[in-house]
Amino acid sequence: MAYQDQPQTETRVWGGQRVRYVRDIRKVPGIPPEQRERLARVAQQYRFRANDYYLSLIDWTDPEDPIRRLIIPTEEELTSGGKLDACNERAVTVARGVQHKYPHTVLLLCNEVCGAYCRYCFRKRLFMDDNDETTNDISEGLAYIADHPEVTNVLLTGGDPLLMSTRRLVDVLDALRAIPHVKIIRIGSKMPAFDLWRILDDEQLQEAFRTYSTPRQRIYLMAHFDHPRELTDAAVRAIDRFLRSGIICANQCPLVKGINDDPAVLADLFQQLSWIGCPPYYLFQGRPTAGNEPYEVPIVRGWHIFQEALRQGSGLARRARFVISHETGKIEVVAIDTSRIYVRYHRAKDTHNRGRFMMYERNDEAHWVDQLEPVSGTDTPKFPPSSRLELCEGPD
Ligand code: SF4
Repeated sequence: MAYQDQPQTETRVWGGQRVRYVRDIRKVPGIPPEQRERLARVAQQYRFRANDYYLSLIDWTDPEDPIRRLIIPTEEELTSGGKLDACNERAVTVARGVQHKYPHTVLLLCNEVCGAYCRYCFRKRLFMDDNDETTNDISEGLAYIADHPEVTNVLLTGGDPLLMSTRRLVDVLDALRAIPHVKIIRIGSKMPAFDLWRILDDEQLQEAFRTYSTPRQRIYLMAHFDHPRELTDAAVRAIDRFLRSGIICANQCPLVKGINDDPAVLADLFQQLSWIGCPPYYLFQGRPTAGNEPYEVPIVRGWHIFQEALRQGSGLARRARFVISHETGKIEVVAIDTSRIYVRYHRAKDTHNRGRFMMYERNDEAHWVDQLEPVSGTDTPKFPPSSRLELCEGPD
């Protein structure tokens, strides 16, 4: 169904709790009337979706409120360049909805909708009408995984897998557990932040987790909390429910301008996550995706925010890595001094890059590795120029 033909509101009932979803930004009461049409124009280009629970976390008296910034569009998105697929995920797509970039890991993009849409999303292309990268039918993905015994780790992602029906999710878990070489199943989800009733009220889902997350082959929740205010009592109860169902929890999120680009905020987030049993795993540099420029933080500034946040936490709050998730692999920023930026491949697509250490001239304006110049005399590669030059077309 084309986006414009879809219902603009819907109600989901998980157990006894009703959560009302809204797609038409003009129906969000907190937005001043004079802004509604302008923001609707942005939402025509990059989809908007939210629900009453998450909207209730916004302080509407603060135009810079971080929760507001996370889901309410800003007009600058329309003048921000970049590619929709900034990291060329198509290049590692081996079948519809199946990505295979690192030998042991396969991604199944099994859903094309999220509880709300983060404005900085690097997969916003999946929510557009012409998306052909996700699939509800994962049989091809399962056959691919079964044929590749080196794949020990499957990540369910999308979109948000926890927006699938419980029956479908159970079928997916059951099918993956029938493949003996798949040891770890990861579920990438922001539902514990966006719509935690999905977990709290679904006893059948929790029972499935207890069944398929076994002592030797665990299921991991890769949660996505960006700001400490998302850790409401109900969200913490949802994480507790995952843990009690035998799920291992960890958190990954990007560093986002105006949301968590403050050492005190990030330290608070990391510490609270470590307390609730969902310690930080990755902090991502924002990808130069179309429409995302208003949300990006330069690498050098991001590194200093990250370091200062780490200094304020105990050991378990400090386990995150600050990583640039690049087309060629996950590049970890390991140090910055007055003249250089030092990085290392944490994961690499090509075997010859694994663990490779690289040195770049310090550039305080750079947002992405392709803006960095290698230190001369080293074998550090220069990445092709940024896609930022390609301005996206406007909505009309
Ligand atoms: S939850 Fe993840 S996939 Fe969904 S909109 Fe946010 S960043 Fe994108």
